[in-house]
Amino acid sequence: MFANDTLKGRTALITGGGTGIGLEIATAYAKLGASVMLVGRNEERVQAAAKALTEAGGVAGARKADVRNYDDVKAAVDATVESFGSLDILLNNAAGNFVCPTAELSPRGWQTVIDIDLNGTFHCCHAAYPHLKQSRQGASIISIITMLGVTGWPQAAHAAAAKGGILSLSRTLAVEWGGDDIRVNTISPGPIGDTEGVQRMYIETGRGHLEEKKTALGRFGRKEDIANAAVFLASGLGAYVTGENLIVDGGRWLKYVAS
Ligand code: NAP
Repeated sequence: MFANDTLKGRTALITGGGTGIGLEIATAYAKLGASVMLVGRNEERVQAAAKALTEAGGVAGARKADVRNYDDVKAAVDATVESFGSLDILLNNAAGNFVCPTAELSPRGWQTVIDIDLNGTFHCCHAAYPHLKQSRQGASIISIITMLGVTGWPQAAHAAAAKGGILSLSRTLAVEWGGDDIRVNTISPGPIGDTEGVQRMYIETGRGHLEEKKTALGRFGRKEDIANAAVFLASGLGAYVTGENLIVDGGRWLKYVAS
């Protein structure tokens, strides 16, 4: 749907780029001409994903890093600029989560999710900033959140607070860094049927149809829907869009509020 050179000359760092939505975005970016650096804790996985992208004709690299560790993140950012010459797009996609009623949630469990999702996103934005502001095409930070971070997320207070925090951080940075030609946006996916999480939680437990009916469109989204939104926001197509939360959820949250 996009012209093949939509992201030509841009370099993207994608956290959690070895699996799921992150890998789908990396694949779309590479096809549209961007160089991509895949970051994750499992080195074999990011290396294998980068190899597959390279074999398909893209330009890709991989780097082991835990987003909770600022030094790891900074090293990954520096390696990206060293390998590809610039950093133009930061995609904060890495996340952790588990279901747990808040009364039973240990402080350590809370801390872990806040550390990966919220602190990890801050680490990446902070380490990337000096390079992003040198982008010749204007830079873009995109963080993957969920509208459950806005509406509240019973049984996942840790993830809800982290995602809500990322939304607030993004809007703050959109204003602080707008003068550096850095756009800062979030994407809120609804349930994405071809991800492992939705397969495991809903489809394999027989709750798929029920969950689909909670969306206005009556169906799950696809990873490709999120990748298309991420291309729009990263490219010149979204050149005047900043501080926005692009909701790609099939009307899930509106139906939740309306019913
Ligand atoms: P996923 O496949 O489990 O992806 C999570 C990725 O994050 C993995 O590649 C993982 O790689 C990486 N990661 C986790 N902890 C990390 C850490 N400390 N440091 C670096 N990387 C780390 O999940 P997904 O379903 O594609 O979700 C991707 C994003 O979309 C998440 O932000 C999620 O909250 C959001 N989302 C998903 C849905 C959905 O329906 N699936 C809906 C709304 C929002 P390693 O284990 O190798 O580190």
